[in-house]
Amino acid sequence: MRRLQLLLDVLGAGEDHPTVRELVDLLGGTPVTTDERLVDEPAHVSRRLSFASGGEVVLHDGAVVAVLLHVRPTPFARTGIDLRHWIGLAGRRATLDGLAKAVDARPRFGGRYAYFERDGGFVRCIFDGRWREPGNLVELAVTLDQPGRACQPDDDTCSVCGDLPVRGAASDGLVVDATIAALQRRRDDGLLTETYSPAPLADLRLLHRSGLMERVESQLECSACRRISALTLHREGPATFVHVMYDEARRRPMEAIPPVEQWGDASRIAAAEEAMRYLDHRPGSWFLARDPDGDLYLESRYVRSSMVDGSCLVRLDAAEVEGYETGGAEYLDDLARRIDGSRPWSQDSPFGRRNLHLDRGAADLVAEFTTAVRDHRWVAEQRQAAHRRVRSAED
Ligand SMILES: [Zn+2]
Repeated sequence: MRRLQLLLDVLGAGEDHPTVRELVDLLGGTPVTTDERLVDEPAHVSRRLSFASGGEVVLHDGAVVAVLLHVRPTPFARTGIDLRHWIGLAGRRATLDGLAKAVDARPRFGGRYAYFERDGGFVRCIFDGRWREPGNLVELAVTLDQPGRACQPDDDTCSVCGDLPVRGAASDGLVVDATIAALQRRRDDGLLTETYSPAPLADLRLLHRSGLMERVESQLECSACRRISALTLHREGPATFVHVMYDEARRRPMEAIPPVEQWGDASRIAAAEEAMRYLDHRPGSWFLARDPDGDLYLESRYVRSSMVDGSCLVRLDAAEVEGYETGGAEYLDDLARRIDGSRPWSQDSPFGRRNLHLDRGAADLVAEFTTAVRDHRWVAEQRQAAHRRVRSAED
């Protein structure tokens, strides 16, 4: 078990620290390959040392942030690492319960990982089958960052998004147009998706040039590592780029986007005419939009518990369209109440089964809807801000 402790002890330590040297010796001394690259902008240096033993060490700006032990063969290690030396358990026999005993902690789950919290670090594992059955463990790692919550350092070398942003040859700064083009290409190839992007990638430059927004950001999710690449153009100062996980992406500061007439060029404004359009909404409850074919889409807010709420987006069926045509907004109030009462986050609910937010194949539709109601959200926010100004003037 001393070696498991050693793995945890090296987290945060510099490359010259005696415990890091001891670890490197145990892993084989000299790495077979070393990957060094700049990550994000402002940038930090990520170094990944791969050893013939099947071990890897990842450092950020010279400090260890993760150690990976590959149980299976990898391109740099013909056989996997022998886990018996590290946790007293043979890798091909290790199950989640066995690991829990070895680590002396209870398993938790985040993203594609099962993990344990120990001594300010995390012991993380990947299985490629049932974790209660032996033979399925692929990799064991210790990491400083919480799996599922924070980006994992080994994703710095992701084959899809690991080389972004694009940097200039002369300076280390990012090149905005080349980065946008690279993001666009990968989105068109289906490797990145921009479903929940605050600003569509195609509008980023126009919005930035308009000077209407302090910061304008596009976010694209990677299909390989699930991290989100966020490219931000600032009214003042150079562009920035970060990789973040989903929750963090949602918490980033966002400004509403002004109506397209205020910043779009002629072709962008013409395209907006052809797109799905906002029709109506009830504050705090629902939004309604119509696509060019005449189909109606309703997004209604539901409350799952006092802590969690969400929204359900459905295409109205024939009966519901008729209901809306005769009953108007009040019919939609009632429909939104029925959706809320049906537990629409689950497949047991008839609305849950129609919920386009749960349908990966509907990403384009969801993006169109989001764009359609965004202008209206902006109008609503301006109104609220004006209201607040009036109120504070009265006080
Ligand atoms: Zn990726």
